[in-house]
Amino acid sequence: MKLLRHGPIGAERPGALDDTGQARDLSLLVPDFTPDWMAPDKLRALAAIDLRRMPLVPAGTRLGTPVAGTRQFVAIGLNYRKHALESGLEIPKEPVVFTKAITSLAGPNDDVLLPEGSTAGDWEIELGFVIGTTARNVPVHQALKHVAGYCLANDVSERDWQIKRNGQWGKGKSFDGFGPIGPWLVTADELPDPQAIPLELAVNGVMKQCSSTADMIFPVAEIVSYLSQFMTLLPGDVVITGTPEGVGLGVKPNPEFLRRGDVMTLSAGPLGTQRQQVL
Ligand code: ZN
Repeated sequence: MKLLRHGPIGAERPGALDDTGQARDLSLLVPDFTPDWMAPDKLRALAAIDLRRMPLVPAGTRLGTPVAGTRQFVAIGLNYRKHALESGLEIPKEPVVFTKAITSLAGPNDDVLLPEGSTAGDWEIELGFVIGTTARNVPVHQALKHVAGYCLANDVSERDWQIKRNGQWGKGKSFDGFGPIGPWLVTADELPDPQAIPLELAVNGVMKQCSSTADMIFPVAEIVSYLSQFMTLLPGDVVITGTPEGVGLGVKPNPEFLRRGDVMTLSAGPLGTQRQQVL
């Protein structure tokens, strides 16, 4: 299934795409896609719904994050070889882990507001996934069973805050709106191989990033297993898995950062598309 949430910010309702690609409202049957609805038995119940009998969501309705009530938002850094090189950093021997504030989560097409005075806003298209069942000390071969589904993400970053303000990357990754996810969550049963997803990001129509999750250094199963050695992953948690080469920071000789008025467009095959205007 492709699960989505539609409606104004803070008042989203659950929905899903039917087999013709039209969004259907599920709020008569489901209160919201809170973490408990990411469990395998709940997802099976959702899959049994005859979507064509559910009300259509009006075209043009805003989409929110496809999961509600997320408690942890975890990110992996430098997970593509060419991106590590363009960043001038060594290819990591173990995954680089950082967190984004959950308040940075946003809908897939919401405007991205740069902080006042920001001159180093940047883009990062990424594969995201949502945890379905609690994961603690999970071996790699069991790891994908803990994933409810996959979504497109943009790990919007403020490079000066990330790099020049001391301490951890989270400072440059956590501003409100710096974590658009969606448009929908593709449940894991529909995407058995998360390592074959095309990723393309353009700014003002000019292609900046063009890659595939096949190039990831640490694949999703290894990420779930690795994180679960250090922390307990909870249902509804969102994990984003690193960005390929082509970010603004990597442009030579001078980095190229976001300006107000720019439009970022992202696409990722079955995971759908995003569009954000920078304000
Ligand atoms: Zn990232």
